[in-house]
Amino acid sequence: MIQDIQPHHYDNAYHPRAPRPGDRFFFYQGGETLLSKATGLPFTWEELPFASGEMPDYTYLFTIDQVGFFWLHTLPAGLEEAALPVKDAAFRTLQPGWLAFASITASQLHRWYQNNRFCGRCGAATEPDAVERAMRCPACGNLVYPTISPAVIVAVTHGDRLLLTKYSPKNRPGSTRNYALIAGFAEIGEPLEDTVRREVMEEVGLPVKNLRFYKSQPWSFSGCLLSGFYCDLDSEDETVTLQEDELGEGTWFDRAELPEGGSPISLTWEMIDRFRRGPV
Ligand SMILES: [Zn+2]
Repeated sequence: MIQDIQPHHYDNAYHPRAPRPGDRFFFYQGGETLLSKATGLPFTWEELPFASGEMPDYTYLFTIDQVGFFWLHTLPAGLEEAALPVKDAAFRTLQPGWLAFASITASQLHRWYQNNRFCGRCGAATEPDAVERAMRCPACGNLVYPTISPAVIVAVTHGDRLLLTKYSPKNRPGSTRNYALIAGFAEIGEPLEDTVRREVMEEVGLPVKNLRFYKSQPWSFSGCLLSGFYCDLDSEDETVTLQEDELGEGTWFDRAELPEGGSPISLTWEMIDRFRRGPV
């Protein structure tokens, strides 16, 4: 999965510091990340004109191994030609994987910082808290922590069969090629177990039982924290009733006939693959 970057170690403890040689740097422009055109990767210290010029304003993001990652708020003059703008989707396939994980995680953090420049309660400009990763409003004291949306991925099984879905083209243009599992966001006031039962009922009209938590995954492409569950169909009737504005297809597959393909960076893929190899 995208967060599995061993032997590298992701350290997200909030210990802001100044950039130094060996660190990596992101710029953002028009909703895109600017990578180094020369390498297709986040800029290195050596690629930036720090020695000869002033360092732009920066925000410390996190550390992987000894490498600090920073968002630099403005592109130094003369660097436009050296920059390659990419959309988040590019990080699904960027290599090496640990820099792909760093890049999408940085993008989510940047989006959060940008969305919280002003206090949602009183409208004053916020500033970074000195101790925690949070934006503090100096006018009213409002403290805003990074926004993460909890969501579930659900593999509904019935003996040796697994229910796969495809998004409706109306709902997700361009994302209907691969089979997926049932997925949905937790609502306020709702335990994840209830999210699982509700989403399965809403999307395919089936009751489930024996929920089994598998693994979780930070999915920064959509700002989610995914929790993967297996569960059993609580009925002998496999008839699927599709929520048609959400799904275009819901199909039961025998274990031996599960389709190949999909993205190995995703929890969905790992859960389908795990079921393919035996009971879970
Ligand atoms: Zn405020």
